[in-house]
Amino acid sequence: MVKNIRIEPRSARDITSMIERVHRDLGYVDGKVQLTEVRELLKLDLRYYQLEDPGFQEEIIHKLKVGAKQVIKRPKLLLDVIRKFDLSALFLPDQKRIYIDGSVPDLKKRWYESHEIAHSVIPWHANYMLGDNRSTLSPDCHETIEAEANFGSGLLLFPSTVFTEARLSSELNLGQIRGLAKQFGNTITSTLWRSVENNEEACFSTIGQHPHGIETDKAYIDYFVTSESFERQFPHISALDVWTWKNRYCRKTKTGPLGAAEIEIHDSNGEPHVFYIESFSNGHGVLTLGRWLRPKPIIVSMGSSSVLQ
Ligand SMILES: [Zn+2]
Repeated sequence: MVKNIRIEPRSARDITSMIERVHRDLGYVDGKVQLTEVRELLKLDLRYYQLEDPGFQEEIIHKLKVGAKQVIKRPKLLLDVIRKFDLSALFLPDQKRIYIDGSVPDLKKRWYESHEIAHSVIPWHANYMLGDNRSTLSPDCHETIEAEANFGSGLLLFPSTVFTEARLSSELNLGQIRGLAKQFGNTITSTLWRSVENNEEACFSTIGQHPHGIETDKAYIDYFVTSESFERQFPHISALDVWTWKNRYCRKTKTGPLGAAEIEIHDSNGEPHVFYIESFSNGHGVLTLGRWLRPKPIIVSMGSSSVLQ
């Protein structure tokens, strides 16, 4: 299960200004960000690969001869790394080249491409890519680098000002998320992620399995994303809690809206709050969104009558 990780405020500021510069240089106004134009601007090359294709292996090994020193000594290193990390995409800073696994579904390719572009734009990532440091990179450091690239990718595909304006023009719900996905030409999953992660309100979302049709060899929840305010007030809420709530109201329908409910969640001070939670199935997975509605009035019993506090 993947949980969104918050990056250091200073890195967030730096990455934001780098990505905003890309939008400025592109002359971005609104709608879908064209990644072909971004690559042209940044002089990045894109290739699709099939790992088992001997042509690809030969080509990449050949290219690496002008790459990082360690890789020259061990030309098979890259292939080992790809296998070990089960990479679907990678960026080779020396060649300014992005490689994406050709077997990845088309819609997902856009996210991978944008993630790799973010790596290329963030200057301190060059040292951590598949060169000398990758093999010694600690899991923590790797996690930070990946979180930074995801953050940059989100910013690139959903330009801050225009996206925030569009998001605030209507109420946060799954219908709005689907509309925003179309408007910015991105997947519903990435739109949901971005809309919740940088939301000022307390909200959360998950992407996971359909409660009526569980595949036992898979995780119930793949992604659990929360807003900063939610994390602060409800740090004890886990993806499993969302799974339990979802089970109570989700209909058996395979695709489309699965239902909604009002639920009560206690914050870290024990105060009850009411959230609106809804789910939608796109046939591959179930998207769930929860947003804060109101504090729940505490009812104090006073003899025969009840008094709202
Ligand atoms: Zn990455």
